[in-house]
Amino acid sequence: MSINYLALANAGVEMLHPYQPGKPVEELERELGISNSVKLASNENPLGLSPKAKAAIERALPELARYPDANGFGLKSALASKFGVNIDQLVLGNGSNELIDLVFHTFVGAGQQVVFSQYTFIVYGMATQAHGANAVVVPAKDLGHDLDAMAAAITDQTKLVCITNPNNPTGTFLTKTELATFLAKVPKDVLIILDEAYTEYVAEDERHPSIEWLAQYPNLIVSRTFSKAYGLAGLRVGYMVAHPELISVLNRVREPFNCNSLALAAAEAALDDEAYLSEAVTLNRHEMARYEAFFDSQGLRYIKSRGNFITLDLQRNAMPVYDALLREGVIVRPIAGYGLPNCLRISIGLEHENQRCLEALTKVLA
Ligand SMILES: *Cc1c(COP(=O)(O)O)cnc(C)c1O
Repeated sequence: MSINYLALANAGVEMLHPYQPGKPVEELERELGISNSVKLASNENPLGLSPKAKAAIERALPELARYPDANGFGLKSALASKFGVNIDQLVLGNGSNELIDLVFHTFVGAGQQVVFSQYTFIVYGMATQAHGANAVVVPAKDLGHDLDAMAAAITDQTKLVCITNPNNPTGTFLTKTELATFLAKVPKDVLIILDEAYTEYVAEDERHPSIEWLAQYPNLIVSRTFSKAYGLAGLRVGYMVAHPELISVLNRVREPFNCNSLALAAAEAALDDEAYLSEAVTLNRHEMARYEAFFDSQGLRYIKSRGNFITLDLQRNAMPVYDALLREGVIVRPIAGYGLPNCLRISIGLEHENQRCLEALTKVLA
């Protein structure tokens, strides 16, 4: 007898499709029979692990038979002192993706509305669907968030608004003034996730003071990750900062050992490795300029980005170019799944990786 498992699943699951990750290098090389390919598809840090994080992982190895610290005291203390918040304003997650899901598990129910922008992080739409809630997708303005329209889209049914700044996959950026104006308009019983996965790449004087805003906006949740500028994507660790009572509600639902010992140790050490972070940010700025100059010289359209990636708009179906780049051993990210079928998102790599990518693009577009 066969079972229709989908019919057994919760409302919304039937409409979901598994997240499409960037291709692992090994898989692609096997498929195409090539080697030495470069992966510029998942916005990872091309510098590899910070030396301090690596040493911390080695120090933590002997304790792996033990459960991790369920409260992540060491990492939370380091974050609290770095950002001037209290430990009880922090929650740690298995990547910030887990924390986004945790906010949904805790606060978003069937039939409620979640407001987010067209062309933004796909996880908000997936989580909305998985919880049987209704997505209110607000049309983008210049490929980024239209905050006036988002504020206007909030109704009595709205539980949560999700904003990504800088945005993924477009790299567009909202200024502090734009964001502050928006925050002031949102009713206090509507929660706001401000996803700052790429904030470390933004120049400090342009960065919005989101953590200071927490005092004024108790419905604000700031989300950050160690997966991008801190170079720990494979370990899965992210954090949220919010009002202590909001955090305490999240902690009721959170799995007790959601962050593993290696991730906790590595993130604490990475946070302290300012040389690594500044090298990553400098490399990114420098190499971003290389892409922009190349695209400008070739008359190619792209979206100005504040992240560690740049989105090229080919103004025609991007899949043939994506496939041709793959055959050159360059893996980038098609973003048709985000509603941008003419675009390819390229993560900024090391100098020689970017050079490979630009040479491949030149060849493929000729
Ligand atoms: C990469 C990314 C994240 C980070 O996800 P993790 O689960 O922390 O690896 C979160 N939000 C956005 C918008 C991202 O692009």
